[in-house]
Amino acid sequence: MHSKQDKKPTLIWFQGLTCNGNTHSFFNLHNLENLLNKFEILYHPSLESTKNIDEITACIFTCDIFIFEGTYDPLMKRNDVLVSEILNYYAKDANYIIAAGTCASFGGMFKASAPERNSGLIFNEADHEGPIIKYKHKVINISGCPIHPEWLGYTLNMVLSKKELEVDKLHRPIELFSNLSHHGCTRNEYFEWKVDSDNFGEKEGCLYYKQGCRAPMTHASCNKILWNEVSSKTRVGTPCFGCTEADFPRQSLYSTKTNMSIPQDMPIGVPKRSYLTLAGIAKTFSIKRLEGKLIDYKKTH
Ligand code: SF4
Repeated sequence: MHSKQDKKPTLIWFQGLTCNGNTHSFFNLHNLENLLNKFEILYHPSLESTKNIDEITACIFTCDIFIFEGTYDPLMKRNDVLVSEILNYYAKDANYIIAAGTCASFGGMFKASAPERNSGLIFNEADHEGPIIKYKHKVINISGCPIHPEWLGYTLNMVLSKKELEVDKLHRPIELFSNLSHHGCTRNEYFEWKVDSDNFGEKEGCLYYKQGCRAPMTHASCNKILWNEVSSKTRVGTPCFGCTEADFPRQSLYSTKTNMSIPQDMPIGVPKRSYLTLAGIAKTFSIKRLEGKLIDYKKTH
């Protein structure tokens, strides 16, 4: 029998408008079972739970950690109870409210269909204040479409160890979101010397100039904490879509908007004039090593 002291923290995972992508992504966490065993799961739609959805929507008990997945729609109901009422009820006594994924953080994909109505828990693109604003200080946004399993794992471990979690102005943990997604990309040298990638899925070239890569403008640690401990989008030749930022989703995710062949959006902190000067110099070099294929099978056979 557990004493009061070693009682596990209680956790509810509740969903708004969602495709379940964050749940699926989180289930790829290394040592998931080990982490989950440290909590009493009161409710998760796909995990063994001690309560059912009827008990959760009846709002008759409290939880320590409330995780919300999906976009907040003020008109949405579960079991005839407004989601906003359910949110407010649990948020009042919870120690932490975690917005899992970009939909819960900023509205994400479902915001696009009704931007004036749908939002994240405390933000949308226009910095509109959401439904649980009274408990804003408790909210931790782990944006990403979908959420990176290790980022949520890290956050839950910090919560368990009662360590302070510092957040940025969008309430994202700074340990996870102070890097740019560009940091650690294996294509950085191509970026510096302005060598484009010719096609998606290739090992060579940078995807910023033509293929829409938003990593130099996106706060995320995808190339620092690799996905499934193996890789990232840019490493396999797919552009970063900037899915951790509040203005996601955008149009034309696979192409770079340009003015007179110059990318419209500059890397964070780089003035356009400086960029043009540097780009002009870099383009005058022709570095043989960065031309052609990284691995030339014709030469190796
Ligand atoms: S592909 Fe994207 S992340 Fe990689 S170096 Fe180019 S801009 Fe940076």
